[in-house]
Amino acid sequence: MNYVPGDLREQLAHVGYDVVQAGLVCGSGGNLSARIPDEDAVWVTASGSWLDRLNRSSFASVRISDGAPVTIGSVPQPRVEPTSELALHLALYRARPDVNAVVHLHPQTALLLDALGEHIRIVTTDHAYYLRRVSTVPFRLPGSTELASLTAAMAADGTDCLVLSQHGCVVMGDSVELAHKRARNLEEAASLTYRALTAGRLENLRDCPEQFLDRLSGSTAVSV
Ligand SMILES: [Zn+2]
Repeated sequence: MNYVPGDLREQLAHVGYDVVQAGLVCGSGGNLSARIPDEDAVWVTASGSWLDRLNRSSFASVRISDGAPVTIGSVPQPRVEPTSELALHLALYRARPDVNAVVHLHPQTALLLDALGEHIRIVTTDHAYYLRRVSTVPFRLPGSTELASLTAAMAADGTDCLVLSQHGCVVMGDSVELAHKRARNLEEAASLTYRALTAGRLENLRDCPEQFLDRLSGSTAVSV
């Protein structure tokens, strides 16, 4: 069975509802996008969208190469103003041809660790499998071209999970489903790290075993 029936906008609406329920963002914070197959274009959430109330009319279609509005299909869509983080999404699609979905959220535990100067630990096999590694992008103003270009430069090496310091996170995947799983696992890894910190045991927290990390970096199929 498909992850979510319907087109990419239905999948992104499912992500939006789930991440708000999971507490990964609140209000109208965060924004989502997906590359439209065989087009130089993405669906991206409209400015001011509440992520738990998305429907097909909540998305703008935008050209990746220059950010111009585009019409998808033969039926003209009503004009929708894209998110203020449009530059961030487009920069990531340009830098990463393998990426088909971008999820930007404001997850509280990941941000708390960042503000405390702690990095998110990769402890379990799930965290290693879905996150691989997490990079932190130094603070730049939300919505700025500086944030977009710096984040894209740091993602260019294949890093799929980045914390935007004192702002949020951005996660990517070759599908909406994979980006969704990465977003959930990023906050779960942050939560585990934070609980070790509050228990005063962070220095004792074991990283994911090398044996599993070696398997991940090799060609052998891995299950978690
Ligand atoms: Zn944001």
